[in-house]
Amino acid sequence: MKIYDSLVIGGGPAGVTAALYLVRAGCSVAWVERFSPGGQVLLTEDIENYPGFPEGIKGWELVDKMVAHLGQYALDRYNQAVLNIAVNTERHVVTLESEQLGAKTVIICSGATHRPLGLPNEDKFLGRGISYCALCDGNFFKNQDIAVVGGGNSALEESLYLAKLVRKLYLIHRRDAFRGNKVYQDKVLSLTDTIEPLLNTVITSIQGDHALEGLKLRNVLTQEERELRVDGLFVFVGVEPQGQFLPAGLALDAHGFVSTDTEMRTNLPGIYAAGDIRSKLCRQVTTAVGDGATAGHAASIYLEQLHA
Ligand code: NAP
Repeated sequence: MKIYDSLVIGGGPAGVTAALYLVRAGCSVAWVERFSPGGQVLLTEDIENYPGFPEGIKGWELVDKMVAHLGQYALDRYNQAVLNIAVNTERHVVTLESEQLGAKTVIICSGATHRPLGLPNEDKFLGRGISYCALCDGNFFKNQDIAVVGGGNSALEESLYLAKLVRKLYLIHRRDAFRGNKVYQDKVLSLTDTIEPLLNTVITSIQGDHALEGLKLRNVLTQEERELRVDGLFVFVGVEPQGQFLPAGLALDAHGFVSTDTEMRTNLPGIYAAGDIRSKLCRQVTTAVGDGATAGHAASIYLEQLHA
């Protein structure tokens, strides 16, 4: 079994940065990513709040630059899913799809994925009107009427992208105020020709036989019910941790995100977490990069002490 100083799980900004800091500190690194590098950033059209790019930058472009930067250094890349982490005192054993690797430290940067709305027909209509990715599926709804549900940054940002494609967009939010940044709120509310906010409103059911044809809505203040004819529904109601392989005994918060201290240490020795998988207030590319740098640096100090 090949043994590394550190094994980094995840190819998003947190994983890339953690790996970068570790190789630059002279550590041997295995970098494990299930698909291609990028994570959630690849699903983002424009990133406007990553310092250094005043005009904004495309998600894929930022990922390309990050991966090219890491590519200047020697590390071993594994294109496989992690199935299990067995935590030991000095050397952890990480089981991938087709092999096992040993690592003195493990940095978990496996990110988060979309949270479903939880309606009975949601799975059935996936790919038949329901989507969780505007960049992937927006084009299918050109000049059609759609709904977006959610009130956070994702719902607002993705509505701005979708508004360029569709005829009409109903932005459904369960409260009377959006959660997302004011800069996005202002932009969304300025597009009065295309975007119609439906506040204090919840979706009670999805209608259609083979494909989505409409939604049943309820106003939570008046309890009034109505039907809304739409061709598509984009769901952006938050994220869930991607951690099916997390080791037994790892401390998690009430929502399943990994608890860490300010140095990204978990409660298990030599196991760190960084980026969206971590329990934290703010999930952004900027904070993922910061987490990754801290985790990589903290792990390299831990390794020095282990070897002393
Ligand atoms: P989020 O910030 O957690 O917002 C989720 C939204 O969905 C909230 O408005 C919430 O309503 C609503 N919601 C949750 N469950 C619901 C349900 N069952 N039915 C109806 N509505 C429901 O999630 P997010 O927008 O996916 O963003 C996730 C993280 O990524 C956040 O930290 C966000 O800031 C970050 N992000 C940042 C950017 C950026 O800075 N450019 C872009 C995208 C995402 P309530 O408001 O009532 O709770």
